[in-house]
Amino acid sequence: MTHAAVVDEVEVRALSFATSAPESDGTLTWDHTNVVTVEVRAGPEVGLGWSYTSPAAVEIIRSVLAPEVLGEDSSSPGRLWERMHRACRNLGTRGVAMAAISAMDIAFWDLRSKALRVPLADLWGAHRDSVPVYGSGGFTSMDDGQLDEQVEAWLSAGCSALKLKIGENWGRNLTRDLDRVARVMARVRGDAQVMVDANGGYSRSQAMHVGQDLDLLGVTWFEEPVSSEDLPGLGQLSDALNCEVAAGEYIAEISDARSMCEAVDCVQLDVTRCGGYTGWRRCAAYAHAVHVPVSGHGAPALHLPLALADHTVRHTEWFSDHVTVEEQLIEGAPAVRNGQMSSVRPAALGHGYRLKDVSRFAVDDVSTQRVGMRAVTSLDAHRPPRLT
Ligand SMILES: [Mg+2]
Repeated sequence: MTHAAVVDEVEVRALSFATSAPESDGTLTWDHTNVVTVEVRAGPEVGLGWSYTSPAAVEIIRSVLAPEVLGEDSSSPGRLWERMHRACRNLGTRGVAMAAISAMDIAFWDLRSKALRVPLADLWGAHRDSVPVYGSGGFTSMDDGQLDEQVEAWLSAGCSALKLKIGENWGRNLTRDLDRVARVMARVRGDAQVMVDANGGYSRSQAMHVGQDLDLLGVTWFEEPVSSEDLPGLGQLSDALNCEVAAGEYIAEISDARSMCEAVDCVQLDVTRCGGYTGWRRCAAYAHAVHVPVSGHGAPALHLPLALADHTVRHTEWFSDHVTVEEQLIEGAPAVRNGQMSSVRPAALGHGYRLKDVSRFAVDDVSTQRVGMRAVTSLDAHRPPRLT
């Protein structure tokens, strides 16, 4: 092990990006997007990762994950992933904890491919130069004019599929849900597939009735028609409806992926929630083994290298909120043309993204945390005593 390969610093910050107006889907309303960024240093190299998650992830990284990796060889992201995952046993390995692991793991893969002087997609064996995306947004909070404008922008970008939110107000506005879908179908006129996402807002019986109407309208994808906790319900809907039933955005562990693959027609994996690049590739491999298609959820820039290196990934989500954030967060955010996302700097090392000056987005009550070997006299200060 060379000194250059040792993880010697972890810097983590919490950011918040305001949306231009409050936004809603079927079951939540929000006015900002939280991001936690991680920069890991090993000698001269810096790796960058991030997750769309609560500032609470900062404390998990500072107090639980960073002590596990400081002083460790950075050349094996998989080994560091195992250390972090084991350290979260009592904390729980899903939700915010896995989002924290995800940001760290993404940074370690960026770091590793930079050290090897290759683009990250090439490290995994790139199959293609671009990946299909589907336009995603269509919030229930939009008026008809705003929805039309967004659909037009996706069609102009060449998207062959697009997705809008339904299930408004926990399934209490069924007429408006279906009117909005019909409006988009009429506007698209067969030029793109239309997908919908209820974010778990319907009961099983509501979802069955809505799904039958969606089939008549020609909708191709019904995402989270019922709660993702209701795997039997998802399975029943998948069997009964023509449109594909999709879910998976909350998958954290590979065992979650296994269960979800039994219930849905397409499994959605989110690299910022299912363990970063290490976890995502494991879950995708399982889905491939059982012949369930995979689609990337959110975080378009982060899914790009994965989908370039895995030609079986069907598409990835070009989610309007995250597209807006990534333009402000990083240099090198990918471009979409003809419905395909590609890198603007394909020869760049790592994933190719560099953190911009994001100080104006810092969450006021969560200070940037920097922990590292340089800051302490002994590495042992970061580690709990080991029983021998
Ligand atoms: Mg969704």
